[in-house]
Amino acid sequence: MNTQQKLKKYLEEIEKNDKKGKKINAFLQLNSDALEDAKKIDEKIKKGVAGKLAGKIIAVKANINVRGMNISCASKVLENYKAPYNATVIEKIKKQDGLIIGIANCDEFACGSSGETSAFGPTKNPQCLELIPGGSSSGSAASVSADFCDMALGSDTGGSIRNPASHCGVVGVKPTYSSVSRYGLIDLAMSFDQIGPFAKNVLDVSLLLSVIQGKNFCDSISQKSKIINLKEIDKIPQNLKVGLLDFPIQDNNIQKLINKKIQKACEKYNWEIKKIKIPYLDLAIATYYPLVYVEFFSATRKLDGRRYGKKIEEVCGPEVLRRILGGSEIAKAEHQGRYYYQALKVRRLIKEEFRKAFTNVDCIISPTVPRLPHKIKEKISVEEMYDYDALTIPSNLAGNCSISIPVGKINKIPVGMQIMCDKFQDEKMLQIARSIEKLG
Ligand code: GLN
Repeated sequence: MNTQQKLKKYLEEIEKNDKKGKKINAFLQLNSDALEDAKKIDEKIKKGVAGKLAGKIIAVKANINVRGMNISCASKVLENYKAPYNATVIEKIKKQDGLIIGIANCDEFACGSSGETSAFGPTKNPQCLELIPGGSSSGSAASVSADFCDMALGSDTGGSIRNPASHCGVVGVKPTYSSVSRYGLIDLAMSFDQIGPFAKNVLDVSLLLSVIQGKNFCDSISQKSKIINLKEIDKIPQNLKVGLLDFPIQDNNIQKLINKKIQKACEKYNWEIKKIKIPYLDLAIATYYPLVYVEFFSATRKLDGRRYGKKIEEVCGPEVLRRILGGSEIAKAEHQGRYYYQALKVRRLIKEEFRKAFTNVDCIISPTVPRLPHKIKEKISVEEMYDYDALTIPSNLAGNCSISIPVGKINKIPVGMQIMCDKFQDEKMLQIARSIEKLG
């Protein structure tokens, strides 16, 4: 099937089930030039001059700038904002002939774990339509899971790629902090955010990650890293020491599923398995939120209604407002040293504990999310919502890389396994994920 045929098939499926039929609501906007772009890509393929992503059809989260598209962050604030430039990751994708099919729904300004805070309606979980797909990159995960595209880009501040990947039964990667340029990403919290890929399998996320990685002068934080060698991903790592995270979670059935899978992998590949405790992990959520609130408060000061769109406090939803008000309070001079600096201290401790742990093991395995997704519109408390990210936040605090891969189902609901590796060990992490994926 060439790119044009594949695109048509996806567009038909979107037409049938995104706003009508199953009403997934994964897309906020489709690329009206997509057919034209697909034609050009097919011509390049014919001539044998096409890039690495030729033939791949990709959705982009609504907080990553794509020139000419409406990058609203799923918010009324930027409802009419048209991106005047491409984020670095988009330039890289286009250079390798990836085709952007549309802009994916998400939680408003990436604040959320369920996809329900979007100003343009929640996204449904394509695997179980009455349930949330997870968030905040809800539309990115759902579009891959619903077979609307091959791949997607999301952003992960505290779990927003891995969490919806887990709930929707797809693969999602949070790369090492600073290994992918954030230029053109509309920040939630810049010391945590990382753009990363979603796909249906490990080889495809590896391909997309190998394209978007690398240092770029527009993002001074971005660093040069070992670019993923796709030929290496299919190799089974030898003499691997696997750390199985010892951390109590709400749903024991999820833990059992993870344990069973990792035991199977260790037996088959002769990997050594060790139970591992990371001190202070129970403080991860309490550490993450004050930092995110303050960074988000700061990042949103430019949304004052004069330059871009509307004044954020006047039109945003309750979760975004909570963070802005909370951030402005925590950042007050009279609280200096109380919350923000305490949180920075604990962040440093957690970072250090991970550094120590990775001198003993090659990777750390855990469930991606400690519980199964709730029903759309079901009332849960703010604390319960924040708890979804108990196991994903630690990697963002430490800056490590991590991935979620589907490993089974409980009551027909997909469950993801998280594999965490040390900074800049993304290639090894993908190898481990691929080896586990191969078990079927
Ligand atoms: N759910 C977390 C939050 O609301 C993570 C969000 C994200 O990773 N963008 O902050």
